[in-house]
Amino acid sequence: MKHNLPELNFNYNDLEPYIDAKTMEIHHTKHHQGYITKYVNALEGSDLLEKDVEDVLRNLEDVPEDIVQAIVNNGGGYYNHRLFWTILTPKKTRMSDDLSKAIDRDFGSFDQFKDAFSNAAKTQFGSGWAWLVVTDDKRLKVVSTPNQNAPFEFGSPILALDVWEHAYYLNYQNKRPEYVENFWNVVHWEQVSKYYKELL
Ligand code: MN
Repeated sequence: MKHNLPELNFNYNDLEPYIDAKTMEIHHTKHHQGYITKYVNALEGSDLLEKDVEDVLRNLEDVPEDIVQAIVNNGGGYYNHRLFWTILTPKKTRMSDDLSKAIDRDFGSFDQFKDAFSNAAKTQFGSGWAWLVVTDDKRLKVVSTPNQNAPFEFGSPILALDVWEHAYYLNYQNKRPEYVENFWNVVHWEQVSKYYKELL
């Protein structure tokens, strides 16, 4: 199968002032493309190239031992960014009633969920990601992962936030908490709700 850089559903400057155009362009065309290229190179000649990267990451026991770390890193970077772009939008969107109810059920309230997620993003030491995942028993859970590790050990992700410095440094410098707070202005709740529905 083809492993192409996915197109964004918005222009690089559409998320301003929350995420600036230059950051978006470099993040997409250089960082994301870089992970995809290295992933394909690591799997050169392997049948695993016929599978979607998500399948490969969910079945790491099928990956030759000498390239597992390269796949965790670059396959993770490939998958994580592909998901991340889809949950961002300049449009004002609303989450579904089902997701809203599940958030209340599992976190107490939307504000408590938001605090838990923001906190995971702000306190992830070094580079990594914050996630909202749906667990095997269909509960919502906030987790964080280091580096480019995908969150499949915890569940299936429906919301992601990249907290690598390359995601915010040009605009926010060292102020990761400000970037995290502004992230909430560009979340594509309709898409997150769709991912949630698909997992029920
Ligand atoms: Mn990134």
